[in-house]
Amino acid sequence: RADLAMYQAKGAGRNTLRFFDPEMQAAATARAAMETDLRQGMLRDEFMLYYQCVVDAEGVPTGVEALLRWKHPQRGIVSPGEFIPIAEQTGLILPLGQWVLEAACAQLVAWSAKPHTQKLTMAVNVSARQFKHPEFSNHILNLLRLTGANPYRLKLELTESLLLSEFDEVIEKMSELRSIGVGFSLDDFGTGYSSLSYLKRLPLDQLKIDQSFVRDVLTDPNDAAIARTILNLAESLDLGVVAEGVETAGQHDFLLRNGCKAFQGYFFGRPVPVELLQLPNP
Ligand code: C2E
Ligand code: MG
Ligand code: MG
Ligand code: MG
Repeated sequence: RADLAMYQAKGAGRNTLRFFDPEMQAAATARAAMETDLRQGMLRDEFMLYYQCVVDAEGVPTGVEALLRWKHPQRGIVSPGEFIPIAEQTGLILPLGQWVLEAACAQLVAWSAKPHTQKLTMAVNVSARQFKHPEFSNHILNLLRLTGANPYRLKLELTESLLLSEFDEVIEKMSELRSIGVGFSLDDFGTGYSSLSYLKRLPLDQLKIDQSFVRDVLTDPNDAAIARTILNLAESLDLGVVAEGVETAGQHDFLLRNGCKAFQGYFFGRPVPVELLQLPNP
């Protein structure tokens, strides 16, 4: 490897000292290819939103979460886990995230026209980089004005990683948006590093129990204890809770018995294109 590095460095010119690591190079090449692909995907309008129902204690849908999908011409439907990290690293999450917010608000407006759908809420995932952009609040305010979407129906989902820096600015931004009615959820709760004192200071509306605790809630006493603790914590802090990743009646029963009142997961419905969503009947 050292020989290879020297060889490369020589080839690059007399005064260039450049080390060459084939693995890093391969990763960088793959990332660059994905970036080009993402840009093209945006130009070609290959993104779409799937929606997953959030239901109340009776199983009635009260809203949805918007989940981004990439309809790739060769690869088929690509999950956000595969491209969101690259979009964040490259900054493409800014235009992509804006597109998600626009599409989600347009859907809210469409639902507002019909009595049986007009109360549905729309949860949108927002990445740290997107939220921390200095113009984020203005983008949301403009979008709400432009589309006429009801801010009280919009819920933004943030993750704990957001709390690791610029905490005061985060609080300020959340408070500003909350003052016009926008709600905030802390997503994947329990998997991050947020201390309880931070949690208390955040202007939140709800916590979402991460699906990793829900999965084995019936078989793993630790997960059961964590789920119960989060439910109690939310109650004490006067926050709502949504349990994520509920796949079975058993998990649902356990959570219901321990005070959970909102649920999301395959047991109630998978993420689907809007026309396949099972909503309350007119
Ligand atoms: P998330 O916000 O925690 O979303 C929940 C994920 O769990 C979704 O994966 C959903 O399809 C999946 N899920 C729902 N119910 C169940 C279940 O019962 N069992 C299991 N095993 N999984 C379930 P998805 O759609 O692949 O999204 C993954 C993550 O990508 C999301 O996690 C979110 O962090 C991110 N994401 C999705 N859309 C966006 C977006 O528009 N913007 C940003 N910044 N991130 C997004
Ligand atoms: Mg989410
Ligand atoms: Mg989550
Ligand atoms: Mg997640």
